Amino acid sequence: MIKITLPDGSVKEFAPGVTPMDVAISISEGFARNVISASFGGTIVETTTPLTTDGSLILYTWNDDGGKKAFWHSTSHVMAQVLEELYPGIKLTLGPAISNGFYYDVDFEDQKITDADFKKIEDRVLAISREKHEFKLRPVSKSEALETYKDNVYKTELISNLEDGTITFCDHSTFTDLCRGGHIPNTGIIKAMKIMSVAGAYWRGDEKNKQLTRVYGISFPKQKDLTEYLELLEEAKRRDHRKLGKELELFAFSAKVGQGLPLWLPKGAALRDRLEQFLKKAQKKAGYEQVVTPHIGQKELYVTSGHYAKYGADSFQPINTPAEGEEFLLKPMNCPHHCEIYNVRPWSYKDLPKRYAEFGTVYRYEQSGELHGLTRVRGFTQDDAHIFCTPDQLDQEFKNVIDLVLYVFGSLGFENFTAQISLRDQENREKYIGSDENWEKAENAIINAAADKGLKTVVAYGEAAFYGPKLDFMVKDALGRQWQLGTIQVDYNLPERFELTYKGSDDQLHTPVMIHRAPFGSMERFIAILIEHTAGKFPLWLMPEQAIILCLSEKYEIYAKKVLNLLENHEIRALIDNRNETIGKKIRDAEMQKTPFMLIVGEEEERNGTISIRRHGQEGKGNVSVTIEEFAAIVNEEISKTLKVFTV
Ligand SMILES: [Zn+2]
Ligand SMILES: [Zn+2]
Repeated sequence: MIKITLPDGSVKEFAPGVTPMDVAISISEGFARNVISASFGGTIVETTTPLTTDGSLILYTWNDDGGKKAFWHSTSHVMAQVLEELYPGIKLTLGPAISNGFYYDVDFEDQKITDADFKKIEDRVLAISREKHEFKLRPVSKSEALETYKDNVYKTELISNLEDGTITFCDHSTFTDLCRGGHIPNTGIIKAMKIMSVAGAYWRGDEKNKQLTRVYGISFPKQKDLTEYLELLEEAKRRDHRKLGKELELFAFSAKVGQGLPLWLPKGAALRDRLEQFLKKAQKKAGYEQVVTPHIGQKELYVTSGHYAKYGADSFQPINTPAEGEEFLLKPMNCPHHCEIYNVRPWSYKDLPKRYAEFGTVYRYEQSGELHGLTRVRGFTQDDAHIFCTPDQLDQEFKNVIDLVLYVFGSLGFENFTAQISLRDQENREKYIGSDENWEKAENAIINAAADKGLKTVVAYGEAAFYGPKLDFMVKDALGRQWQLGTIQVDYNLPERFELTYKGSDDQLHTPVMIHRAPFGSMERFIAILIEHTAGKFPLWLMPEQAIILCLSEKYEIYAKKVLNLLENHEIRALIDNRNETIGKKIRDAEMQKTPFMLIVGEEEERNGTISIRRHGQEGKGNVSVTIEEFAAIVNEEISKTLKVFTV
């Protein structure tokens, strides 16, 4: 018998040769109907692969990333089959699944695929899929594989790099492809498919090689899923932070300044500052102390921290001084600097925890092709902090950090999130640094803190860093897309490398534990996600302008200024639109800027000492006439709905 470990930790015994699908059926017939792919011992297998050794098995449905991957990759086989049918003589190369769908790189030689062909290809893919062909993996010898692909230089190159005895073909219908596996049971579940685009792509990503055509597609088990996906794409385009960032005048990029280096415009800088003040205020209450460290550090600092050995070659290269032969690196992380702050004086256990916070700007080299708006940049500011504590304090510190993260998410309207607890790989404990006892303390601290705070969690074994376990917050935005925000990480490594100590109650020197944490992650990425999540309609407390005063004519400008002053007294951010434009145009522009309140002032308002409120996006609802005090009350009430007071 062999022992199969399932993700919930349970172990079941089966006769050797059992397949993942057999295991699924043994769990329940209903569940098995939804299983479309599997991984065994960390390797993707077919649902029909006979299992002959002990190991851990994960069964995937469409709802898992592993299931989607197999679904999309399998569809790429069917699309390749259709492309060969419709464009005889083309050469197929590789067709992997990607995060949304799949592609196939094809050498079309003198033939060409255009948008007009997409429908025909999609229809044929679905027609073949309906025939319910099974995907069958079959081992072949290297010589047989080379013979099959003797007219295809790309596949020949791939096969040449494989070892004889490890090569497999995948058959379905009349089509065969070189493939190592990871397929759904049969084509029948592919119910909707669309070709998204075609683009040029060099063979193996090397521009010295021939340019191929990359055909991008996506597929779904239901037509409805495809329709929803396409609607989502349209909405995502409308909310793209690069587009809204420009329209709302938040940030810009300049080719002269350099790629991946965002420039914050006044409105964006004000928004960012407001976020920083918001977090600083809460952190102060939570016992953090603000520190400031330089943007560069000696190369030696990062040799000590280990960052140089790990990332040095792929980073911005050292800055050399003209005379003294010193070498500096742009700061890639704030942690080494904070360790040196801790090291400035000796500490007793009674002084701990020390919590150092810094909005620290760091620089990391990203290839220009990887840069993307504010989400992938070369210079960014982390809302960083490092907590130095005793192992016994971990539990409480973790709970405090979770409270802070929940406060941040709540105030910014992220309601839907899960927390991933990343722990050691149970079977390979030797690859982690730090004592078993400390790891257990830290892992239990995370698990207890997450349970205590009622977080929705998933546990990922083997996902911990080599230096400590962590808790990552995965947030779903308004479009259902998942982002990783906010991370809390325990570290046994840096305190050792920097020889950090404190005197314990036993009068001996001990090494403190370090927690890295950043609720936003980085200001740049967080604001990008926030823009897309809110479509630029930020929570009222954060809005660059909460209100705009629109004069019906220039006669009322003096009254408008008086209103503005009164609003300022109530700490409401407003401005006056006194351009010589029609009220209709002013309203349209304010709508475009997503300003929450338009305050219209004319003869009647001036006479009564009131303002007429029109809310963003509420055309035709009729304006409400109120006094300034009443308006301030409306604003404050709305702010208090999202922005709570942080308490410890
Ligand atoms: Zn395949
Ligand atoms: Zn850190």
